[in-house]
Amino acid sequence: MRAIRIHETGGAERLQWDEVPVPEPKAGEVRIRVEAVGVNFIEIYQRSGLYSIPLPGVLGLEAAGAISAVGPGVTGWAVGQRIATVKAEGAYAQETIVPAAHAVEVPSSVTAKQAAAVLLQGMTAHYLAYSTYPLKPGDTALVHAAAGGVGLLLIQIAKRCGARVLGTVGDPAKAALAKQAGADEIVLYRQEDFAAAVKRLTGGRGVDVVYDSVGKDTFEGSLNSLRPRGMMVSYGNASGPVPPFAPLLLTQKGSLFFTRPSLAHHTLTREELIGRTTALFGWMKAGQLDVRIGGEFPLEKAADAHRALESRGTTGKLLLIP
Ligand code: NDP
Repeated sequence: MRAIRIHETGGAERLQWDEVPVPEPKAGEVRIRVEAVGVNFIEIYQRSGLYSIPLPGVLGLEAAGAISAVGPGVTGWAVGQRIATVKAEGAYAQETIVPAAHAVEVPSSVTAKQAAAVLLQGMTAHYLAYSTYPLKPGDTALVHAAAGGVGLLLIQIAKRCGARVLGTVGDPAKAALAKQAGADEIVLYRQEDFAAAVKRLTGGRGVDVVYDSVGKDTFEGSLNSLRPRGMMVSYGNASGPVPPFAPLLLTQKGSLFFTRPSLAHHTLTREELIGRTTALFGWMKAGQLDVRIGGEFPLEKAADAHRALESRGTTGKLLLIP
């Protein structure tokens, strides 16, 4: 079979369309024939070397497809069943291994493309809004990169929780999409000082929480956008990692709370994993969650998908199709 591998870290040109053996599932694993792969920013961090993975390695965590083989001792899963996962052992491939404990059954109302489009970013938006800073009516949240994959889902989920949502985006077309998703106010943060805009839009008070996936470029402005004792949620590094800072900075900015969460720690139990995915699939079936697929690329063109995501030129979710 074919898979996209990296042999050394670097730019998108490092993604190679290699011939590799079909993996055999071991105890506790199943294999799927991949129908759709979700592209996530983490793969750019792994490709560039910001996060390290064993090399050579097949990239990709998020995939949906039908089970093609079941490992020894696995119960509850059978060949042909439709599943999705955010823990694939190399999703940029025609077939991939999935730990059975991290497989999620895809309901008949959801296509493989929709499942690969919603699972990772949807569960991220879910834990940010329900677990990291549980939003409630009366809260105001600031969502950066609001027209991105996580951004569009987080706006919709934050609105479900009753919060007022301010979003930042890179251009007017993205502003229209974020508005359509339910954002109350949009700031074009490449043109305007977003912290000043946030203060203006909140009558000088600041927001209760900032969900910041941009990292280095927005860190200080995000702290300046918070009300005293507000919560800074730094959950990504699209512009580069946040540099080290002294805890005293949080005091100076208003006795702020700071957290740097990860999806892995919000899907620790099977109950938590299924709870979050059941909510997402249920909202999709009820027409209450719009999952925007912003682009599809043939698997062998994964480098083009990486270049698009890195260049800030995409909205919603990117998929690779084997
Ligand atoms: P997005 O679709 O949001 O794409 C990234 C967006 O970030 C861009 O479209 C752009 O939007 C904005 N951006 C701002 N500055 C830059 C820059 N210098 N380079 C590139 N993009 C920039 O991606 P995802 O939805 O896949 O992921 C969003 C973030 O969430 C990532 O940082 C990712 O690591 C993080 N994440 C974290 C998880 C966790 O559990 N901690 C889980 C999942 C994702 P604009 O043009 O509007 O500025």
